[in-house]
Amino acid sequence: MRTVLLGAPGSGKGTQGDVLSRKFNIPQISTGDLLRAAVAAGSDLGKQAKSAMDAGALVSDEIVIGLIRERLTHEDAKNGYILDGFPRNIAQAEALDNMLAELDQPLQGVVLLDVPFTELMQRLTGRRTCKDCGAIFNVYLSPPKQENICNNCGGQLYQRQDDNEATIENRLKVYEEQTAPLIGFYQQQNKLHSINGTGDIHAITNAVGDIFNTI
Ligand code: AMP
Repeated sequence: MRTVLLGAPGSGKGTQGDVLSRKFNIPQISTGDLLRAAVAAGSDLGKQAKSAMDAGALVSDEIVIGLIRERLTHEDAKNGYILDGFPRNIAQAEALDNMLAELDQPLQGVVLLDVPFTELMQRLTGRRTCKDCGAIFNVYLSPPKQENICNNCGGQLYQRQDDNEATIENRLKVYEEQTAPLIGFYQQQNKLHSINGTGDIHAITNAVGDIFNTI
């Protein structure tokens, strides 16, 4: 099942991708996570990516396409995957299509998590992530039982460096200008499924799962 989760920053791609990956036993491949790991490791690639990430801008297509090309060769991706945060512009989407055409394994479906802009800011400023297991909480919408402690594993929660108001504003602008055109791109390919990304998290998972089951 070769899929993409599409949506603005804060639309729930990471949260849903994580649950769906376990449900369907296919990896969630997040370019944001791959880039943050490269930054944390202090690799050359991480150093090149860091300034764009801190500014809420896009890292170069060359870097992210290279990361995806390499990640898709891993054994765990042979039965499919959920791409999260990639592609983020038309050039990346075309590169992905070309890459997958070479393998004769085209994308099967793209699910858009549709969330009103007004809600995204609260989701992003309130987001906290567990440094150990990656679980995502929100201090306003789904707070952990104990402040700054993960409900699942007891790990410390942290706030992503790019989840501050100035950077968020730029990320949302970048989404509107560069990523939102992918909606039309995948509509034209008859691959786009749009769902309401607000409300109960489990209901959203089920809605995406139902779509995955039909593609
Ligand atoms: P995310 O975790 O998906 O919100 O991504 C965090 C940051 O990583 C973004 O604001 C970008 O700076 C960078 N990034 C992630 N995915 C991509 C991509 N496909 N293309 C360019 N930059 C990306």
